[in-house]
Amino acid sequence: MITFHEKTVDVLYEEKTLQARIAELGAQITRDYQGKDLTLLCVLKGSIFFVTDLARAIDLPLTIEFLGASSYHGGTESSGEVRITTDVSTPLKDRHVLVVEDIIDTGLTMKFLLGNLAARHPASVKLCSLLAKPSRAKVQIDIDYTGFVIDDHFVVGYGLDYEERLRNLPFIGVMKPGAI
Ligand code: 5GP
Repeated sequence: MITFHEKTVDVLYEEKTLQARIAELGAQITRDYQGKDLTLLCVLKGSIFFVTDLARAIDLPLTIEFLGASSYHGGTESSGEVRITTDVSTPLKDRHVLVVEDIIDTGLTMKFLLGNLAARHPASVKLCSLLAKPSRAKVQIDIDYTGFVIDDHFVVGYGLDYEERLRNLPFIGVMKPGAI
């Protein structure tokens, strides 16, 4: 029987490919943050699965915080408007903050967030994004740790949504033509 997911989405990165890359990122972050007090700052909601897997791939005594940012109002186009919908539970002052994001598309959301974070005086801020779509960039964002660079596709799954659905796919896929 063809599942709903198979009818809707073509697989781009299957679960084991994601996990293998996350293990590599975790090992690199573990080396880079030796002796530092690391806070993973998960940008909600798209990074929820990524941050839990990444955190377990990092061999350091880190903390995890959540920041809700909304730049999409459904559909597949950025509104350009960014709002903080949920804030962190502990001050980020003097922390080594690693922002964990699902995807950098136009870069507008991250530009806003990095400006907002700088005002909180962390010891350092770096960025880890599972996906990057450089062909869509409207502003330059330096990504310190990138999982995969992708072409201009609207992707879903592993935290990424289409109108709040499909986040629970264990893989990352591309909506089939006509499925939207
Ligand atoms: P940006 O501000 O860089 O254009 O977009 C940032 C946010 O838009 C991402 O964190 C993500 O929530 C959403 N987004 C951008 N591209 C995609 C995509 O291909 N698929 C999905 N599901 N969300 C996307």
